[in-house]
Amino acid sequence: MRIARFSIDGNVAFGAVEGDPTGSGGPGSFDGLVLDIIKGVPFADFELSGTKVPLDKVRLLPPVLPNKVVAIGRNYAAHAAELGNEVPAAPWAFFKPSTSVIGPGDNIVYPSFSREVHHEAELAVVISRLCREVPRERVKDVILGYTCANDVTARDTQQTEKQWARAKGFDSSCPLGPWIETGIDLAGAADLAITATVNGELRQAGRTGQMINSIEDLIVNITEAMTLLPGDVILTGTPAGVGPLHPGDEVAVTIEGIGTLTNKVISRG
Ligand code: MG
Repeated sequence: MRIARFSIDGNVAFGAVEGDPTGSGGPGSFDGLVLDIIKGVPFADFELSGTKVPLDKVRLLPPVLPNKVVAIGRNYAAHAAELGNEVPAAPWAFFKPSTSVIGPGDNIVYPSFSREVHHEAELAVVISRLCREVPRERVKDVILGYTCANDVTARDTQQTEKQWARAKGFDSSCPLGPWIETGIDLAGAADLAITATVNGELRQAGRTGQMINSIEDLIVNITEAMTLLPGDVILTGTPAGVGPLHPGDEVAVTIEGIGTLTNKVISRG
């Protein structure tokens, strides 16, 4: 099931997306898709209401509002190498604040302090339940599903500031969406094509199977240290091919079996 979060007439709801997202409108198009509104929230047992609205009549929101986004740096060897970095000996986690999250179609706003903002296409894991010290064999039980993420990064700031809080935490630096795909298991998530395009030109192309630390590794490692809450998000690292974004660009992250997350880049008003 694909679960989207959206607003309509001032109300916010979750809905199950019906229809073929690769249909008539091409990649990233929502043509012909319909939302069956969910009664309640998708982090517990829920029912579909049977009330349906066309997806192009609503505003899609980020599919979750995470309490925290835990992101992993340098989890693909070719990406570490392209920036001249070593692969860390263990998962290298950092935070992106909840206020960095934007949804599909929202604008990435170029921060005032940077001259070099990069895209980083990433598979995002959405957590289903409160969990800590998750053993490897229970990892599958704490995942609601997967969505696309863009770990937008002020690369110049990342290189001049020891902590990455500003470089990777500025407002609008965490596009998520377009929806959560719940029908992929751990084995499936470990073998998905992931791409980033800028203005339709292919920039990043990798496979989640190239991750150094698997999704199981990451959730075991993170929950050794902290409790994850329903709706928390883990960004699993980016494949090679990161590069600059400029105001006016349109960046799209596509993950096989999930969908396409598209955002425009604008300068500060
Ligand atoms: Mg990243």
